[in-house]
This record gives sequence, structure tokens and C-alpha cells, in this order.
Amino acid sequence: MRALVDKVLKLCEEITEKIDACERCGKCCKSPLLLPEDVKRLGKYAKMFNKNGACPFFVEGKCEIYEIRPTVCRIYPFMFLPHGLFLINIQECRLAREIYRILFPNERGERNIVKVAITKLEEMEKRMINLRNPDTY
Ligand code: SF4
Ligand code: SF4
Repeated sequence: MRALVDKVLKLCEEITEKIDACERCGKCCKSPLLLPEDVKRLGKYAKMFNKNGACPFFVEGKCEIYEIRPTVCRIYPFMFLPHGLFLINIQECRLAREIYRILFPNERGERNIVKVAITKLEEMEKRMINLRNPDTY
């Protein structure tokens, strides 16, 4: 189970990094929930998040701890919920809108959250690799 979660986290992170659509508005930079591995990686910084407020590490449009940022930040605007993986805040986040457009090219709804099947993510990742390497068609 953990291996599957790690695989999905990696896929989400790769996709969000490759799609250059984040406008660094900081709307997603609220103090995140930390997983045990985040607390370990963040060390002294783990205690500096406020429970309910804006993230103290978002400064002038940049994450000051980008290299060691928490898992939820790495995969945003994807989010794991108890009933699956979701793409969230589609209306407010430019990066989420772009991912939605690629994942669901035939949908033109006003959805703000959508469940994403892992197979869809894998297809998207493959298509992105093909776009970068035209010879693989
Ligand atoms: S991921 Fe979305 S909400 Fe967060 S800074 Fe980028 S555009 Fe803004
Ligand atoms: S750690 Fe970085 S990416 Fe995560 S909420 Fe704070 S500023 Fe945003």
C-alpha cells in the first residue's frame, strides 16, 4: 500500500513540476499538514508552521524551504482524501486549471474538485514524456 502511495505521490510531483503554470500567487500556501517523514526532513522548521494561518515560509512569491517542502506542497493541487486522489481548487488555481484541461480535454464544466484515477495520471505522464521526445511516437 505504501509503495502505491509513494508511486502516486511521485507521479503527482512530476506532473505539477513539468506543467509550468503556477503563477506563485500563494493562495495554496497555508500551513500544511505534516506527515511523519516531513517532520523528520524539515527538522527545526517543522515547528514553525502556524496551525491555521498563512505559511511563514512563503516570502515574496517564493517558498523559502522549497527543497525540503512538505509532501502536500509537493503534490498540490492534487490532494489525497479518504476516498481517493483529487484535483482541487480548479477555479482558483491556474496550475489546477491547466492540469484539469489536460486530464479532461472534453469537459468544459465549472468543477472545482474532481476525482482522478491513477491510470489517468499515468496516461498523462506518458503523454508528457512523448511531447518531450517526439521520436518515441
Ligand atoms: S499552485 Fe496554484 S494556488 Fe498555489 S501558488 Fe501556484 S497558482 Fe497559486
Ligand atoms: S512550505 Fe512552501 S510550498 Fe508549502 S505552504 Fe509553505 S511556502 Fe507554500
